Amino acid sequence: MTASTAETAGLTLFEVALPLPLYRRFTYRLKGDQTIPAPGARVVVGFGRRRLVGFAVGPVERAPEDVRVRPILEVLDAEPVLSETEWRLARWMARYYVAPLGLVARLFYPPGATYSVGEGAPGRPTRAPERLHVLPVGELDEVGEAAARDALARAPAQLRVWEAARDLDAPIERSAFCDAVGVSSGVVRAVAQRGFVQVEPRPVTRDPYRTPQALTAVEEEGPLTADQAAAVAAVKRALDEPEGGQTLMLRGITGSGKTRVYVEAVDAAVSAGGRAIVLVPEIGLASPVVSRFRARFGDRLAVLHSGLSDGERHDAWRRAREGQAPIVIGARSALFAPVGRAAVIVVDEEHETAYKQDETPRYLARDVAVYRATLENSVVVLGSATPALETRTNAGAGKYQPLVLSKRIGDRPLPEVEIVDLTKGDEGAPGETVAPGITRRLAEALDETLSAGHQALLFLNRRGFSAFVQCLDCGWVAMCPECRISLTYHRRPHELLCHYCAHRETMPDACPECRGRGLDTRGLGTQQVERAVAARYPDARIARMDLDTTGAKWSHARIYRAMQAREIDVLVGTQMIAKGFDLPGVALVGVVSADTALHLPDFRAAERTFQLLAQVAGRAGRGDQPGRVIFQTYLPERPAITTAAGHDYEGFYRHEIDDRQQLAYPPSARLANVVVSGSADDAVAEAVARVADHLRERPAAGLAVVGPAPCPLERLRGRTRHHVLLKAVSPSELERALWDLARHEQSLVGANNRIEIDRDPLNVL
Ligand code: ADP
Ligand code: ZN
Ligand code: ZN
Repeated sequence: MTASTAETAGLTLFEVALPLPLYRRFTYRLKGDQTIPAPGARVVVGFGRRRLVGFAVGPVERAPEDVRVRPILEVLDAEPVLSETEWRLARWMARYYVAPLGLVARLFYPPGATYSVGEGAPGRPTRAPERLHVLPVGELDEVGEAAARDALARAPAQLRVWEAARDLDAPIERSAFCDAVGVSSGVVRAVAQRGFVQVEPRPVTRDPYRTPQALTAVEEEGPLTADQAAAVAAVKRALDEPEGGQTLMLRGITGSGKTRVYVEAVDAAVSAGGRAIVLVPEIGLASPVVSRFRARFGDRLAVLHSGLSDGERHDAWRRAREGQAPIVIGARSALFAPVGRAAVIVVDEEHETAYKQDETPRYLARDVAVYRATLENSVVVLGSATPALETRTNAGAGKYQPLVLSKRIGDRPLPEVEIVDLTKGDEGAPGETVAPGITRRLAEALDETLSAGHQALLFLNRRGFSAFVQCLDCGWVAMCPECRISLTYHRRPHELLCHYCAHRETMPDACPECRGRGLDTRGLGTQQVERAVAARYPDARIARMDLDTTGAKWSHARIYRAMQAREIDVLVGTQMIAKGFDLPGVALVGVVSADTALHLPDFRAAERTFQLLAQVAGRAGRGDQPGRVIFQTYLPERPAITTAAGHDYEGFYRHEIDDRQQLAYPPSARLANVVVSGSADDAVAEAVARVADHLRERPAAGLAVVGPAPCPLERLRGRTRHHVLLKAVSPSELERALWDLARHEQSLVGANNRIEIDRDPLNVL
């Protein structure tokens, strides 16, 4: 194909989407000899004094008036990079989520490819990266061999290097070679300089998920259960359907074998020559799922990870694009991996909030996957034990096809859940606290579990030692200077930490207000529970899993493997232990406080609580012994807690959907959260009032404006935040109102404040 140039097509003006948080359109001039870029192709343009990588949108008739049109400096992609559907998807996302198109288009490229020119990175696809490799030593005759041994005899380390290189079958990366032989790279260099081994740069495919540290043990699985077989058959029927994307809701109780259904669904799609995308909420916590896919598909899997370096991400991206890896697994942004058409998209734990991006574009990957499937006539599988209310409602309305796995593998029973009422804490009562966070009842259960040689999980959704620090004399509470939020006390290191902005300071010796010495730590954190358990069970092997213990690469998988190997008796952790843990040794799950999420001032507080409790309870009883669960709570009558204890998803759904209807919250209405923020309190309050007035001046059918009001998290990272909620019956009315707002954004909030539009918010904090 000969690419047409701007001159032959008679074009000069071109719209370019820039990756900037601005709602304006940008027009540039294409030079006569430049190739006309395909929609979505990267171009380099000047913007102010900077050079930016933007995305070609298309030719335009005329430029905005009184603007000096600057030239497109370079067209980076001569061939189209985005498929037509990908470009349509990008445009739909920009419109739906009220986001600048350039910020959306960027998602379809690996990050290194869209750096601003001059930010240090080239903005070009990089070549396959190269690293030094040690090459195998060729065959030597006896004389050559003896000569080499002689020459190296006085340097035993060098001799070892030479011997190891002689045993190689193929080139090996120098770093891996050094690890295996136990020498430094300097030794290898010395042997190479003496000419006994060869070291050369060779291309590498970097995929950190190939290292054993990343993986966890995978058990052989038997034939599909009847439920699994029915679900897989339904997916296959959907794959064979020639028209219309289909979404299947796979609701399977905990331990029912959902992952196996995903694996079979993906297998069916790729066996027919298709591609597949598997989304997991947090790839760092997904080692068990990744390991299962790796066991089935080996190198045909590319793992995308936000923790990857640009180069690593680029490699995975290239393998997906070139088809070596027809299966891509990753967090939400893996939805934009360059697979062309995705025949099947799996969304694991589809109810998880991690699928929502918390910066512009604030897309929800689950919903974008469903839309993508309608564009590509493909199949989406939304899997969960506790589907989001929206998903369950869509299934009820016939939009999604419901599939149910109603039994645990091996007909294991769901665990018994006991509710322990913390308000009844009399001496001798089950609710009496015998150690920080541990009631008499929980202690008894721990005694039994440990003496039977089983494992226990203790769940508390707050890391650190205590929730806050308070002065007993004057009531002072340690607060974050940047956020209007109390600081959490951490032991080791001994300091106060803000869980929102990561501000840290040393723990004071005395109250800064009254100089009183009675500083008290209030409210429990995982560190304190860990300490309490250690004091009670000095012989038990105890570990903790939360953000503070999983900072290092693969530490999550490491702790998981230690649990698999029964090297840990009690694991204390945050919601990290609620998800995806499939450990047959766990006989007891103790929920230290079932109430933490219930107190959040958010319309999804009950749903979150139910989901978290149901998920964490589902970790017990996956082995031969029946499981047992204890919920400690001050609110033993709350439906979110009683239905979770009864494993009653439908009961919770019926109750909660009523509440949402009465308050006109999703899924009964469509919602958008408009947040105005800035450093000055008064200016923010004035700006948000103008926003609310603007919305009210343009009444639309079925649109309600609620507020303005300060956000529940009123000050975060040094910015004051106020918001307006928009509730609508019709999605299109909502979209019209939001775009109208976006177009007037600058005049409404001014240069010093920022407006953020969150359509379909997962929380309104
Ligand atoms: P879920 O995600 O639904 O909680 P998992 O996918 O983790 O459940 O499966 C639970 C356990 O059952 C896993 O250990 C898995 O290996 C095992 N398993 C799944 N399917 C089968 C099967 N058909 N036969 C035997 N074991 C199975
Ligand atoms: Zn004080
Ligand atoms: Zn803070």
